[in-house]
Amino acid sequence: MTHGPNAEQLAFDSQHIWHPYSSMINPPAMFPVESAAGVRIRLSDGRELIDGMASWWSAVHGYNHPRLNAAAKDQIDRMSHVMFGGLTHSPAIELSRKLVEMTPEPLQRVFIADSGSVAVEVALKMAIQYWHARGKPGKQRMLSIRNGYHGDTFGAMSVCDPVNGMHELFSGVLSTQLFAPRPETGFDATFDPSDITALEQLLVDHQDEIAALILEPIVQGAGGMRFYSPEWLRAARSLCDRYEVLLIADEIATGFGRSGELFACNHADISPDIMCVGKALTGGYMTLAATLATAEIATAISSGGAGCFMHGPTFMANPLACAVALESLTLLEEMNWQQQVRRLEAGLKQGLAPARELQSVADVRVLGAIGVIERHEPVNLAEVQPLFVERGIWVRPFGKLVYVMPPYIMSDDDLATLTGAMVDVIRLLD
Ligand SMILES: *Cc1c(COP(=O)(O)O)cnc(C)c1O
Repeated sequence: MTHGPNAEQLAFDSQHIWHPYSSMINPPAMFPVESAAGVRIRLSDGRELIDGMASWWSAVHGYNHPRLNAAAKDQIDRMSHVMFGGLTHSPAIELSRKLVEMTPEPLQRVFIADSGSVAVEVALKMAIQYWHARGKPGKQRMLSIRNGYHGDTFGAMSVCDPVNGMHELFSGVLSTQLFAPRPETGFDATFDPSDITALEQLLVDHQDEIAALILEPIVQGAGGMRFYSPEWLRAARSLCDRYEVLLIADEIATGFGRSGELFACNHADISPDIMCVGKALTGGYMTLAATLATAEIATAISSGGAGCFMHGPTFMANPLACAVALESLTLLEEMNWQQQVRRLEAGLKQGLAPARELQSVADVRVLGAIGVIERHEPVNLAEVQPLFVERGIWVRPFGKLVYVMPPYIMSDDDLATLTGAMVDVIRLLD
C-alpha cells in the first residue's frame, strides 16, 4: 500500500493549497511523495529520485536518518514543546553551546528563531536596537547588496534584491534600504579594489543613517547563485569597521559546510557582528534558525531604553527542533564533512563540465557542494521538471539557473547519475 497522496487528495491540493511562489489559477503540477530515505525521494508511483536539492540546502545528512529519527523520538517522549519565557531546557542550552563553539569566536550570544526569515528579522532589529542604545537612533537603515536573498517576511524582503523581490509591488509598505552593486570579482579571481568603491561611497554618504550591512558571504544564493571573492568580503568587513556600521552575515544557505568551509565567512577569515543560520541546522527535519551576536551588541541592547531585546516568538527554541539540530551538528562533526564536501566538489566539477560545450549554457560553476549551470535563457519549469523526473533525479531550476546542492552523504555513483542527467536534459533544450 502506498502512503502517498491519492488522486482525490491531489485534486484538493491543487484547488486549496498554496505551494511556494505558486498560482491558484494555474496551479503547477505536483509530484506526490510517499517517503524519502538517504538521498532518494520515493514518489507514490514507486519511482525513486536522486535528490539534488537537499530540500533547499537543508537535508545535509539525507532523509530518514536513524540518528536524527532517534533524537526526535527520544525528545518527543520527554516533551515536544514548552514555552521559552521563564522556562529553559537542555536541548536549547546544548544547541546554543554548540553554535557558540562552531561559529567565529566573537559570536557569543544566541537567539533561537523559528525560520530563516525570522532570524533575519531578528538580526535587523538587533542592529537597530544596538545603535539606539548607543545613542545613535538615526542609524536605522540597512545597506544590502544587489542580487541578495534574505527571506520573504517584510524586513527580510526589504533587503532582498529590489528587482527579483518585486519591491515596486510593495513600495508603500517596504522600508527603503540602500543597495550596493553586487561584487563582480569571482571567487578565484584577483580582487580589484575598484569593485567595492560603490559600497564605500554609500557608507561615506549615509553612515549616519546605516545600522548594518547585510550580505550573504561568498555565495549569493537564491538571488543568482553567484560565488564572489573572499578579498571582497574582507574589504567589506574593514569598511564596516571604518564607517561604524555593523556587519550581518546571512549564513542561512552557506552555514554548516556547504561552501567548503564550516561558514562561508571562514573563506575570508572574518567574523561578522551578527550571524544568521538556518536551513541545514536541523539536517532538514524541521524549521529552526538562530541569530548569533557578539557580547558587546547583546550588552548594549540590554542596557538600552527598552532594557531587553524586543522579540520572542511563541515557539522559540522548540525542544524537538533543538534536539534534532543538536544531533545533526554532532553528526556533522563526526562525519568529516570537509572531506565529503571536497569529494562532492570534485564530482560536481567533473560531472557538470560537459555542459560548458552547450550553446544554451552561459556558465558552469562549482564551489563546495554547490553546482550551478547558468543558461542564457530561463528554463520553462513546467516543461523541464518532468524531464528530470523521467531520468530519476530531483532538480528544481529557477530562471536561468539549473543548480544542485546534494546531501553530503551522496555516493560518487549517485552524483555521477545526477550530474549526467542534468547535462542530458540541458542538452535536449540546446
Ligand atoms: C532560505 C534563506 C533565507 C530564508 O529562510 P526561510 O527559512 O526560508 O525563512 C534567508 N536567507 C538566505 C540566504 C536563505 O538562503
